[in-house]
Amino acid sequence: MAKKKPAGYIGRFAPSPTGPLHFGSLLAATASYLEANANSGRWLLRIEDIDPPRASPHAEKYIVQALESYGFEWHGGVQFQSREIARHLALVEKLLAEGVAYPCSCSRQDLAIVPRGPLGSIYPGTCRRGCTGVDVAVRIRTNSVPVAFHDALQGRQEQRLESDSGDFVIRRRDGLIAYHLAVVADDFAQGVTHVVRGIDLLDSTPRQIYLQQVLGYATPDYAHIPIGTNPSGEKLGKSTGAAAIPTDEVRPTLVEALTALGQNPPAELAECHLDAIWSWARENWNMSVLAGQTRLPMPR
Ligand code: GLU
Repeated sequence: MAKKKPAGYIGRFAPSPTGPLHFGSLLAATASYLEANANSGRWLLRIEDIDPPRASPHAEKYIVQALESYGFEWHGGVQFQSREIARHLALVEKLLAEGVAYPCSCSRQDLAIVPRGPLGSIYPGTCRRGCTGVDVAVRIRTNSVPVAFHDALQGRQEQRLESDSGDFVIRRRDGLIAYHLAVVADDFAQGVTHVVRGIDLLDSTPRQIYLQQVLGYATPDYAHIPIGTNPSGEKLGKSTGAAAIPTDEVRPTLVEALTALGQNPPAELAECHLDAIWSWARENWNMSVLAGQTRLPMPR
């Protein structure tokens, strides 16, 4: 039986330190923060630093400094996911011992020829009945039972994991914990009740809900906000060269973020003190204007 959700709203912002905070991540931070404020909830900051090959030097320091300069206030200290790795590895061992997860020795070449679907490659279960090899990944067994949820902004979502993604990796071949397991473990450990994040992660959510079910964790409520795109329609992010948000011109940038999030702030708000901008944002925050939207045109 799933464990009960703790009382009270707990939201979070969970950036990976792959680069400085850009405008797209400011939107996710702002939406999750204001939604937590609107629900008299707590808002946590967790740096998801468990993938050193993708990390950018000092990115976590720049992210925290940028959030501070924009006036975000998080509950407690900054959490670093890398400090929880022993707990993540223990979960992998537990799932292996229960036979819910299994080692997989498929090589890159083996995986290059598996079928592909809208979510990427679909693992055909090659190692389900055992594998030989040393450099093994660990995969979680999936099934054909639909995993469905209601997203507060994007409506009902459903996937059949066995055919949509296949058994997916929870510990990588290089020994690193995979994102899906780490995010589920830490949201649970931190008592997160509501996840507000970018729509680029909507497709990942059924895999995360499946892991919650397997581990007996309650599923948080999800809201996936539209993502910011550059003029070519690509997601704003490190890979598309999104610029770091300025930490000197914070007031106009914050007002631009509120505009992009459909909140219609008056233009003169950019002249006001940062506290006044946040007060306006708290009083006027209405996340439902983003319902059904997938892309946000960016002011920059
Ligand atoms: N760390 C992930 C990222 O920066 C976000 C995780 C999440 O919000 O669930 O893309």
